[in-house]
Amino acid sequence: MIGFSLDERQQAIKQKYHDFVQQYVIPNRLKYDQLAEFPWEVVKAAYAEGIMNGPMPKKFGGNDYSIFDGAIASEELGAGCIGIGISIDANTLALTPLYLAANEDQQKRFFGQINEQKAVAAYALTEPNAGSDVAGIKSTAIKHGDKYLLNGHKRYITNAEVSSFITVFALTNPEKGARSLTAFVVPTDSPGLEIKPRLQKMGQKASVQNELIFHDVEIPEANRLGDEGSGFPIAMRTFDRTRTGVAALSVGNARAAYETALHWAKHRIQFGAPITANQGVSFMLADMATEVEAGRLMTWYAAWAYDNGLKSASKLSAMSKMYASDMGMKVTTDAVQVMGGEGYSTEFAVEKMMRDAKLCQIYEGTNQIQRVVISKSILK
Ligand SMILES: Cc1cc2nc3c(=O)[nH]c(=O)nc-3n(C[C@H](O)[C@H](O)[C@H](O)COP(=O)(O)OP(=O)(O)OC[C@H]3O[C@@H](n4cnc5c(N)ncnc54)[C@H](O)[C@@H]3O)c2cc1C
Repeated sequence: MIGFSLDERQQAIKQKYHDFVQQYVIPNRLKYDQLAEFPWEVVKAAYAEGIMNGPMPKKFGGNDYSIFDGAIASEELGAGCIGIGISIDANTLALTPLYLAANEDQQKRFFGQINEQKAVAAYALTEPNAGSDVAGIKSTAIKHGDKYLLNGHKRYITNAEVSSFITVFALTNPEKGARSLTAFVVPTDSPGLEIKPRLQKMGQKASVQNELIFHDVEIPEANRLGDEGSGFPIAMRTFDRTRTGVAALSVGNARAAYETALHWAKHRIQFGAPITANQGVSFMLADMATEVEAGRLMTWYAAWAYDNGLKSASKLSAMSKMYASDMGMKVTTDAVQVMGGEGYSTEFAVEKMMRDAKLCQIYEGTNQIQRVVISKSILK
């Protein structure tokens, strides 16, 4: 039997995130879009309301959410503001390598720290010369006794300037290249860690990014996640879990843009009738409604596949991220078009939704790279 309805527990998750978004996200989204700074007041409220770190274990302050539960939650956050949503979800991205590879002591220390301090973390993979090509990473962590010395340069790291620690990927043996890629937990107060001023950007402005420079940063061996050389699979398994989150944020953002345009178009009179009387407008709305539904179905299927251990889960998570974020870009662009000058003005936040949609086609692997993942999977 196939079922598409949410059970009571899932409906409660949806309602909880919906209510949170109405109370804390929507009233603050334009402010943070203008300020372009980390939305601490919303994140503090998210901690107070049990919104943070949903997929993390309950004993460490999470909610033990499945990937499907997380998709329901992220769609609601995306319907409020992807920028604020990713400030929350990037914490899950940073903690996922620990969820996958940390030992009991590390989980206690680092999940404990995040939970007790109501803090945030960051995930640092990308470098100036290693964006899509993760295997091109040059940062090194060379062992000296029971410590590693970290040197290198990371770029575009979400939450970096506000984080308590950063999950950093570096080579323990440069001669072996990506086969020696290893994940480390690096506290942000470590001497030698330089956090550069935040990136100025087009959308998702409530989310902050920084460049990081590591000058002989000492990392205790006890902060290494898994074995030396296990970093590449940890990074990829992390994305298998989180890409459906980006898909769900895109679906939520597209849904909000579509609903805003629909409501507005029904009441906008031109030539003596609502503009929806024109097929040119009503067909656009019909396409938008269909595409949002299709994006959600793809996202739910990918999340379900992960939770049920399907072999195709990795391919499906890439498909969901690619499809939903491309859909989100199209639907938000069409929402601006349906609303004409009102869509282009800031009043209804639809232009912001369009600016915010773009980044979902780029981060956590561009949509070209998702196509690389999908084509490799179907051609092998
Ligand atoms: C706002 C923001 C937040 C981010 N947050 C984080 C974060 O928290 N942590 C982190 O580690 N990274 C983060 N990133 C980095 C992000 O994941 C990378 O920007 C992304 O993977 C692309 O890398 P790049 O920008 O270097 O582009 P490039 O790799 O230089 O790509 C440029 C273009 O070439 C295309 N291209 C490259 N290779 C191929 C190929 N083989 N086939 C077809 N097309 C190809 C790409 O699709 C793209 O269109 C963030 C980026 C941004 C902009």
